[in-house]
Amino acid sequence: SASLTHPLLDGLNPQQREAVVHHGSPLLIVAGAGSGKTRVLTHRIAYLLAERDTRPQEILAITFTNKAAKEMKERVDKLIGPRSAAMWVMTFHSACVRILRREAARLGFPSGFSIYDQADSQRLMAMVCREMDLDPKRYPPRSFSAQVSNFKNELIDYETAADRASTHMERTLAEAYKNYQQRLTEAGAMDFDDLIMLTVTLLQIFPDVAEHYRRRWRHVLVDEYQDTNHAQYTLIRELVGTPELRTADGDLVREGTAGVAPAELCVVGDADQSIYAFRGATIRNILEFERDYPNAKTILLEQNYRSTQTILTAANAVISRNENRKPKNLWSDQGAGPKIVGYVADDEHDEAMFVAQEVDRLADEEGVTPGQVAVFYRTNAASRVFEETFIRTGLPYKVVGGVRFYERKEVRDLLAYLRVLANPGDVVSLRRILNVPKRGIGDRAEAMVEAFAARERIPFAEALRRADEAPGMATRSVNAIREFVALLDELTAKAGETPPSMLAQEVLVRTGYRAELENSEDPQDEGRLENLDELISVASEFEEASPEGTLVEFLEQISLVADADQIPEAEGGQGVVTLMTLHTAKGLEFPVVFLTAMEDGVFPHMRSMGEPKELEEERRLAYVGITRAERRLYLSRAAVRSSWGAPSFNPASRFVSEIPSDLVDWRSDPRKNAWTAATARRDPSRTAPARKKAGGRQIPSLKPGDRVTHDQFGLGTVISVDGGNAKIDFGSDGAKTLVLAYAPLEKL
Ligand code: ATP
Ligand code: MG
Repeated sequence: SASLTHPLLDGLNPQQREAVVHHGSPLLIVAGAGSGKTRVLTHRIAYLLAERDTRPQEILAITFTNKAAKEMKERVDKLIGPRSAAMWVMTFHSACVRILRREAARLGFPSGFSIYDQADSQRLMAMVCREMDLDPKRYPPRSFSAQVSNFKNELIDYETAADRASTHMERTLAEAYKNYQQRLTEAGAMDFDDLIMLTVTLLQIFPDVAEHYRRRWRHVLVDEYQDTNHAQYTLIRELVGTPELRTADGDLVREGTAGVAPAELCVVGDADQSIYAFRGATIRNILEFERDYPNAKTILLEQNYRSTQTILTAANAVISRNENRKPKNLWSDQGAGPKIVGYVADDEHDEAMFVAQEVDRLADEEGVTPGQVAVFYRTNAASRVFEETFIRTGLPYKVVGGVRFYERKEVRDLLAYLRVLANPGDVVSLRRILNVPKRGIGDRAEAMVEAFAARERIPFAEALRRADEAPGMATRSVNAIREFVALLDELTAKAGETPPSMLAQEVLVRTGYRAELENSEDPQDEGRLENLDELISVASEFEEASPEGTLVEFLEQISLVADADQIPEAEGGQGVVTLMTLHTAKGLEFPVVFLTAMEDGVFPHMRSMGEPKELEEERRLAYVGITRAERRLYLSRAAVRSSWGAPSFNPASRFVSEIPSDLVDWRSDPRKNAWTAATARRDPSRTAPARKKAGGRQIPSLKPGDRVTHDQFGLGTVISVDGGNAKIDFGSDGAKTLVLAYAPLEKL
């Protein structure tokens, strides 16, 4: 076999080299965090291209995010020159979209099918439940949505779901699943789970399609294999072309394809980092790899190149408490490094201030840039307090996840217009924009069109065109609908030859959407205009990157932007602090990491505490968080935290107490409890001089004209102050008189 001194093998240890040059049988690389799994995949790809006569189009590599895919391609190009263009390096979803675009007709979909994200599909499920006259209290559409998603992750179609249903509830769910699926098909749309499931279906029922892709891809590589679910697992098997296929229960489904040798499969993963069980991911896929692929080879990596020994020892101590795992021995030769720093804050504001001041201190004393720092938390909502504090102290930051750009109303409105122009049958988008901006097509008119469509058994879009035939429809509504349809027709006719950015501009002007925001008195509308312009510049960037790109491709790219793709590049400058949930942090690394809100009830999450299985998943999440840190790790918690407006006193996270105490340097008494926190004197350097303090909360001293922010009402302006009360104008929420000692209020 190949020489083990090739330049592409420089900078790899012997096990890593073996994995890079391994030939033939399926290969599993299992190893702890930071041991170079992703690096091995990258080098293996480069090696296949440089040394094994593999052509780029014969390689399919699956990564967890689009950002990771981009990085992998760039690294390959760096190693062996620009050869990655024809290679498929992408997420499961992106790969499936590309296959489905080509083959959609076989499944009865237009090739320009829409992709519904979670919010879209929940809205569609809500429509279906309404049509079925289901009481939303007994049959919550969201729960139906989640259960349908679970079915799809297990490759269970609605017929099978109906066959297996034994209770009334299960039968109702199966019925809703069926109706939901029919509405999707009618709309020419697929939800996220369909992308995987329909690709599997495609490969299973059209042998010629399966054979085409099996002949094409001679190498299939998968990163983060521990987070694949059953549908993704099956997809891989279909693509590789294994000798046979079995169900999750082990029953033989069918024999393999004759004449095509299976592709070489290489997967890497770490069972300790499996954090998506709630989405159907199963570490079974990694634990039973050797059974599923009988001649498989397994390689273990044990040296960690990312973190100091202190950080690794902490991570190992935490994860070793999980019972259902194989013990691992992960070590580092980077030395002990600085101790972990623990901090017990008085409350969440104090915690955020601690982080901000510590980032400043590290910059002054150790030359750390903001871009080298990440702040992790368990739930999205936790970002707000950090954001407010960082804005006040002028620390540049970026939130990954949370209220994402693409979830903002105005952005979704404009995208809905573009989707309808790309796919006139897209009923969810069509109904979203029907009366946006207001054009006199009210709920009543919409309901009449809907009823008319149901009676005539025609799609909603067609019913809209024939609105004049709908009984009882007011002439005014008919005219409004006619104008709307004419506008859409005109824009649709242009959609073919107009670049997406110009089309978006035109939509905003022709619909009056832009004018409405420009003429508005609401200061928030200015921000909305900025967001729309931002979306238009996203389109322009797309056009620059792919001059031949179509509207459908632009929309597709947007649908696939995962949370983790919004991480800013550290472009030359100092970069910005990254705020994100632990779930989005997978696969990443940062010199400095803050793990915040380390409190029982927050992390581990309240929901998981009584459930041993879920607690183990939370512990894996803690392991993921700790192992993102290269040199410095901070663990913080707050003695008092306001949740839903009421103070809660959470004990320290059990994960913190699982870390050997000699590794942690506490900046404040770790036993400090809520009582002492509430009465303790605040470090004067952290407290604005004008503030008094009582009950663990600062009472802001206010005067008329001051700007404040309230946990519930948002931004406001002080109108008057009277003793302990203040009257505050919260804009659209109106003026309110609040007791300063209790109101969750902060002066800006
Ligand atoms: P995770 O489980 O978190 O995804 P991983 O196993 O994929 O981690 P990588 O991200 O590939 O690990 O590697 C971690 C860090 O160690 C990276 O910065 C990588 O460049 C570096 N690294 C990996 N192997 C070596 C090596 N042999 N010599 C030097 N550095 C290495
Ligand atoms: Mg990795």
